[in-house]
Amino acid sequence: SLQNQRFYSSKDSVAKFNGTKDSSGLYTVSLIEGDGIGPEIAVAVKDIFAAAKTPIKWEPINVDPILKDGKTAIPDAAIESIKRNKIALKGPLATPIGKGHVSLNLTLRRTFNLFANLRPCRSVAGFKTPYDNVDTVLIRENTEGEYSGIEHVVVDGVVQSIKLITREASERVLRYAFQQAQAIGRKKVRVVHKATIMKMSDGLFLSCAQNIAKEYPDIEFDAELLDNTCLKMTTDPLPYNDKVLVMPNLYGDILSDMCAGLIGGLGLTPSGNIGDECSIFEAVHGSAPDIAGKGLANPTALLLSSMMMLRHMGLGEYADRIEKAAFATLAEGKALTGDLGGKASTQDFTSAIINKL
Ligand code: NAD
Repeated sequence: SLQNQRFYSSKDSVAKFNGTKDSSGLYTVSLIEGDGIGPEIAVAVKDIFAAAKTPIKWEPINVDPILKDGKTAIPDAAIESIKRNKIALKGPLATPIGKGHVSLNLTLRRTFNLFANLRPCRSVAGFKTPYDNVDTVLIRENTEGEYSGIEHVVVDGVVQSIKLITREASERVLRYAFQQAQAIGRKKVRVVHKATIMKMSDGLFLSCAQNIAKEYPDIEFDAELLDNTCLKMTTDPLPYNDKVLVMPNLYGDILSDMCAGLIGGLGLTPSGNIGDECSIFEAVHGSAPDIAGKGLANPTALLLSSMMMLRHMGLGEYADRIEKAAFATLAEGKALTGDLGGKASTQDFTSAIINKL
C-alpha cells in the first residue's frame, strides 16, 4: 500500500536540521541543478513543489570546479549558500574518468563533512520486478575508504591507491546507523565488510562496529561478508527488510546500485548525504549523458530525494502529499518514462503527478 511506500519519515531525522524560515515563512534551499539530465529533473521537482505550494525558495548555485592551493574546490559563494541554508538539493555532477579534476561530489562531501550517505530502496507499487517487496536501508561511510583520493605512481606501470579507514569516521557513521535504525523502528544493524582480506582497514571498521553496538543494547548487531551479501540479496532480498546495513564507502556505492537494480533501476532511488551542520540530498544516479537533453529522464529519484529533504526539514506533510501523487502516478502506469518501459517524457510524467496533487 502507499502507506508502505514511505521513505525517511519525519521522525527518522537524527541529524537535526537547524535552518530558519524567512519573514514570509519560506525556507531557502541551495539548488545544484547539475550536469546532463540534472537541469531537466530539477525543473520537474521545482514544478511539482510549486504546484504543491511547498514553502521553499530555491537558491540556484554554481559549483563549477576551481583550483584552490592546487586542489579542486567549489566556489566560495556556493559554500556560503549551503552553510547559510544548511540544506541543499543536488542534481548529478559528471566526473572525468581517469584524469582531470577531483570528483565534485567527493569535494562537496568532504567540504561539509557529510559523513553518512543514507540510501533507502523500496519496491514501487505497479512496477513489476522479480521481487516486489524490497525495502532495504543502506548507509554508506561517505568521506574516506577507497575514496580517500590518495593515489600515486610507485614506478612506471605500478600505482598505489590508499584505502583510508579511521576510527573517528567509522564510529561516526556506525553510531548514525544505530540511531537511524532506532528512528525508523528497525531492530537490527548489519555491518557489511571484507575483513577476511582487508584485515586491518575493514578489520578496524568491524571492531569499531562491535564496540558501538554495545552502546545500543536494544538493537541486534551482526556482520556479513560483502560477497555473501551480494549473493543473498540477489537470491532473496526480503530478509534484509528488517535491517539497517552499514558499510565502508566503496561497498556502499556498489551495493546500493545493486539494490536499485532489484527495484527497477536508478531512476527510482534517492539518497541523503547527512552531516552535522548541513545535509545534501541527491539521486543515487549520475548525469545519464546517453539520454541528456532529450526529455526522457525519470525525475522520480530526485523527487524522492527531495521528499527525504522535506522530512529532514520537518515539512513531512508536503512530502506525504507529493509522494502519494508520485506513487499513484507510477502505480497507474499511464505516464511512465522509458527506463520503466513507458513512452512518457519527463514533462508528461511531471504533469501527471501535478494532476494528482
Ligand atoms: P548514470 O547513473 O548517469 O547512468 C547509468 C544508466 O542509468 C544510463 O543508461 C542512464 O541513462 C540511466 N539512468 C540514470 N538515471 C536515470 C534517470 N533519472 N532516468 C532514466 N534513466 C536513468 O551512470 P554513468 O553513466 O556511469 O555516469 C555518468 C556520469 O555521472 C559520470 O560522469 C559519473 O561520474 C557521474 N555520476 C555522478 C553521480 C552524482 O552526482 N552523485 C553519481 C553517479 C555517477
